[in-house]
Amino acid sequence: MEKNCLFCKIVAGEIPSPKVYEDELVVAFRDIDPQAPEHILLVPRRHIPTTLDLEAADQELVGRIFLVANQLARQFDFAEEGFRIVNNCKAAGGQVVWHLHFHLLAGRQMGWPPG
Ligand code: AMP
Ligand code: ZN
Repeated sequence: MEKNCLFCKIVAGEIPSPKVYEDELVVAFRDIDPQAPEHILLVPRRHIPTTLDLEAADQELVGRIFLVANQLARQFDFAEEGFRIVNNCKAAGGQVVWHLHFHLLAGRQMGWPPG
């Protein structure tokens, strides 16, 4: 756990945030400032700052995150209409919290190009 990391604190339960999923690799919880009717964040339990910090040993973790996203899409009933998965990497990508996370967004029509 990284001191002063918001998502490490949420994973550890030090900052309350109702979890919609957790296993030994991945935790998912609702975004505090939702940008769509459904906005879930999927994070690795372990502190990994950005996508660029992923290593070969993390392949199972990244695959797991996408399979969990599929599972949540079915559970919360937006698998059929579709959804968007977003990862913001570093400053120009718009990353604010430097603990790797994937946004799972659904419940409205998404625009393209993204902002
Ligand atoms: P990013 O810009 O990709 O780093 O996204 C960070 C996300 O974390 C934003 O969508 C925030 O709304 C979200 N966020 C910040 N604080 C919290 C919190 N305490 N609980 C849940 N989500 C949060
Ligand atoms: Zn962290």
